[in-house]
Amino acid sequence: MIVGGGPGGTSLALRLARAGQAVTLVEASAPERLDRQFRGEALMPHGLAALEAMGLLPLPAAVPQRPLAGWRFVLEQRELFRLAEPLEGSPSAIPCTLISQPALLRHWLHELQSLPAARVLLGVRASGLLLNGGRVRGVQLADGQTLEAPLVVAADGRGSRLRQQAGLTLRRAGSPIDLLWFRLDGHDPSPLEGCFTTVVGPTGLFSAFDSAGGGVQLGWVLDRQPGDHPSDRDHGRSAPLDHATPWAERFAALSPPSLAAWLRASAASLQEPVPLRVEVGQAERWWRPGLLLLGDAAHPMSPVRAQGINLALRDACTAAEELLATLSPAAESDESLEQALDGALERIEARRRPESEALQHLQAEETRRGTLLRHQGGLRRALALAAPLLGPPVAQRWRQQQAPLRLGLTTLTGASDQGGSLARQQ
Ligand SMILES: Cc1cc2nc3c(=O)[nH]c(=O)nc-3n(C[C@H](O)[C@H](O)[C@H](O)COP(=O)(O)OP(=O)(O)OC[C@H]3O[C@@H](n4cnc5c(N)ncnc54)[C@H](O)[C@@H]3O)c2cc1C
Repeated sequence: MIVGGGPGGTSLALRLARAGQAVTLVEASAPERLDRQFRGEALMPHGLAALEAMGLLPLPAAVPQRPLAGWRFVLEQRELFRLAEPLEGSPSAIPCTLISQPALLRHWLHELQSLPAARVLLGVRASGLLLNGGRVRGVQLADGQTLEAPLVVAADGRGSRLRQQAGLTLRRAGSPIDLLWFRLDGHDPSPLEGCFTTVVGPTGLFSAFDSAGGGVQLGWVLDRQPGDHPSDRDHGRSAPLDHATPWAERFAALSPPSLAAWLRASAASLQEPVPLRVEVGQAERWWRPGLLLLGDAAHPMSPVRAQGINLALRDACTAAEELLATLSPAAESDESLEQALDGALERIEARRRPESEALQHLQAEETRRGTLLRHQGGLRRALALAAPLLGPPVAQRWRQQQAPLRLGLTTLTGASDQGGSLARQQ
């Protein structure tokens, strides 16, 4: 049984059910409410490789999608550098791809519902674990029902309730990241030119990109002060806050002229921000007998450089491979099946934890560089003034730093016979 129909849980359920393994997926959101929750959009080459290895490529044509054009950095309203996708530059390289995640999940859930091996419970929340003899034996649902299963996969996201109930402590890495997330659904095309654009200036730091499903998404990073608490946190606290300044004006004040003009002209289409708090960390263990943590439930990821969906997919790919190998030869008794499953859970953690730890470390490095630029006005101004000279070497260095965050650090072995060129590239 899988709890959580995000990218990790749904892709795993689909892979298992396509192979004929009985699987129940429990997802708290109803299909039409999947986009009420914020969901990221960027798939890196290593996430696409996982999809290919699981037989989930090509992406369905009906799902809004487009390759990212490139990455652009703006300091003090001037462009420091811009690099085109794919960063690897070779003709066979795969670009970072933006997808509408709710549309993709709905497509996968629709297929899952049609498979005889799958049972899909949507709009149903798991409220607790069933425990017996130190082993997880199923879940309790919020409506009072219980569901028994030889294995529960908790793919219930960064705030995983099942992780907490299983007593698997989250080791937090650094302070939480607080963000304000905005949508701008204007009709005029943005001047972002398809680039993921990061803007840093004296009053803040934000990123913006053209969303796969239309419109623009913007994320404003909130500075944390010692003793900050979400309830007393102000939106944009370290910048001397001017409550009278509308958000479009705050974005515009940091932006180069064409983006600033477009933001001011589109101010009426900027929606109210959604506050997001992201804790980054690793569960001390990813499993206990009868339970596996997967994706953000095991290792909640920072939003920096779009890793979380991709790693959840890579976890799902490895979990599918190990579980199918364990479940295929029919176990002789319940006891031997339980032992075999626990062995598979241990191997999944051993195979997946090092990559997620290493990529979290690289995300933290990237955050540290952003924070430095945010707070060191002299450095920021010097870089902006010397952009024509310093932009190219800085870009070159940044491109090299991105390689593991794009290609991953471990080789995925195919969970599917259809695993092909993408998977083998790594
Ligand atoms: C601002 C921001 C931008 C991001 N952008 C990107 C990006 O572009 N690319 C990228 O790779 N990553 C991105 N991430 C990270 C990414 O969103 C997560 O790492 C990723 O979604 C994790 O996938 P998952 O399947 O493990 O969990 P989730 O996507 O969180 O899915 C968990 C699912 O479980 C369900 N659920 C929770 N509790 C229960 C319960 N008790 N019972 C039943 N169901 C339950 C939820 O409804 C949800 O559907 C971003 C994160 C943030 C905060």
